[in-house]
Amino acid sequence: MAKRVFFFTALILLFSPCLFSDVLKEIKNLPKEELKRDHFIIYHENRNFANDISWKAEYNYKKILRHLGAADFHPWEKKDNKCMILIFRNQKEFLDAVLAPLGLKNEEEAMVARASLDWMGGMARKDENVLMIFEGAEGVETQILPHELTHLILREYFGKADIPLWLHEGMAQYEEEGRDYKKLVMKIARDEIFLTLADLFKMKSVPPSRAEIALFYAQSASVIDYMRTQLLQTQFSQFLRQLKDGRPTDEALKEVYQWKFPNGVKDFEKRWLEYVKTKY
Ligand SMILES: [Zn+2]
Repeated sequence: MAKRVFFFTALILLFSPCLFSDVLKEIKNLPKEELKRDHFIIYHENRNFANDISWKAEYNYKKILRHLGAADFHPWEKKDNKCMILIFRNQKEFLDAVLAPLGLKNEEEAMVARASLDWMGGMARKDENVLMIFEGAEGVETQILPHELTHLILREYFGKADIPLWLHEGMAQYEEEGRDYKKLVMKIARDEIFLTLADLFKMKSVPPSRAEIALFYAQSASVIDYMRTQLLQTQFSQFLRQLKDGRPTDEALKEVYQWKFPNGVKDFEKRWLEYVKTKY
């Protein structure tokens, strides 16, 4: 018996890529081929697709870091601490990996769980620097990859500090290519049915209704757009630093942009609305 256990353990050690962290061991169908880049290690079953994803990931890494503007922040440069991207062959294999930590009992349970997640095209395991995607997901290179990568990079940047939800999702959506949040934001600004920024900045969970979810994401991305294109990059970086130090959004705004928005969030909202109405 002991011999057999040893034999199987040895087999598992032989065939599992050595860099997979322990936390991934519950995933049975890990992709086996490996591709290394400066900041990423990619496990896949399709070299061409993995190659495309790897360059897109490096490109987005540089872009997102530039947008954060934190000079001394360069995560995942060390050989043994890169971000891991797992590319599954299809959505079923991807969802099985997503669901693996739940330890579902049988195929019937798994089918129900997979059906409830059939909208899902990618996932970031934020505490482990692991990004999971699959071939053929809609927008996988242009939207899912940059979105989830932003979440992972922000998590690295903030460390143990809380990340305001609007910033987490707003930046993630802002970094996507070709995401048209501007049309919706222009409409709600004109019709005056937007979420007040005072409320938006305090939100701790994504709102329950579909319409509000759309507003929440679009407005958050638009606020980032406003801050990055209409205000100075150095100040945006200072603002992030303040948030990282634990200041709530309204206080961080006051601290960094006092001269521009003497009445804090109220003034900020006014200027943001002006920008949206004239430029979108
Ligand atoms: Zn997100």
